[in-house]
Amino acid sequence: MPTSEFDLIYRYFSSLGAGPAVDLSVGDDCAILRLEPNERLATSVDTMVEGVHFPEDMFPEDIGFRAVSVAASDLAAMGARPIGMTVALTLPEADEFWINTFSQGIAQAVSEYRLPLVGGDTTRGPLTISVQVMGALPADKALLREGAQVGDLVYVSGTLGDAAGALAFLNGEWHPEPDAAEFLLQRFHRPRARVELGRELLGKATSAIDISDGLLADAGHIAAASGVSIDIECGRVPLSSALNSHPDSESKLKWALSGGDDYELCLTLPEEVPTPEGCTRIGRVTKGQGVKVDQDIDFTAGYQHF
Ligand code: ADP
Ligand code: MG
Repeated sequence: MPTSEFDLIYRYFSSLGAGPAVDLSVGDDCAILRLEPNERLATSVDTMVEGVHFPEDMFPEDIGFRAVSVAASDLAAMGARPIGMTVALTLPEADEFWINTFSQGIAQAVSEYRLPLVGGDTTRGPLTISVQVMGALPADKALLREGAQVGDLVYVSGTLGDAAGALAFLNGEWHPEPDAAEFLLQRFHRPRARVELGRELLGKATSAIDISDGLLADAGHIAAASGVSIDIECGRVPLSSALNSHPDSESKLKWALSGGDDYELCLTLPEEVPTPEGCTRIGRVTKGQGVKVDQDIDFTAGYQHF
């Protein structure tokens, strides 16, 4: 990129890089992060391509916030403490309004998740945002997909299906009341990674995953990794009142079970552990394999990539 464009990025991004684990931030060849003794590094990367992972008319502030939330959600699902992230930006042009507004969304996420922006890369091409997150885990603990035990109870955080409901609204398939529409759009544009919940579950939950591809698909990953069956009671799956305002119960259930992009957590806990704050019990771990539901449903599990 020409220097002037790089200066633009630098101006907006270089002030977001300070944090307790950051020894060296944006500006050198690498950032240097510090782990405490007896900690391990958890790291993950997520890429968002315009027109594939988010709509072309999405507001740049939302694109920035959402891209970080999606990546931070993987830290939440591991129970990791956020320590820093890098952002690789591919931009079709150096549009100052776009970069400024996008950086505000990034800044909001930096502060929300205490996830400083310690570096990145900037190139020209079709609009693509890759966010690599780094977090710290104790040497002896992590929330894995494996570990669910027969007899454990299955929980989800928050409400499910809201992002799918928002997409139905954006596609003109549903016309919710204005308050409900606003709530659903907020859930789609501004998902909140459950970082605090993940950290609270560390050492308690026997397994966890974040719901990016839909409950059935993601619970299926726990079932496969743990060698168990996840049995879900459809009537217990939590719906927001906004989603519940949809007249057709089959559509609502379909979005809640197989709609992606909610970024809530699905987790298993031994029966004696109290329900974590903000979570709902939706089922039980049994002997067997795969995900079972207690109603006849005829839709496929989860969003398949490509
Ligand atoms: P290099 O040639 O070593 O890859 P760059 O010129 O790409 O260096 O980047 C210079 C500095 O600016 C590096 O510290 C890099 O991490 C940072 N940087 C570049 N692009 C971004 C971005 N989109 N967000 C945050 N930091 C960035
Ligand atoms: Mg570079």
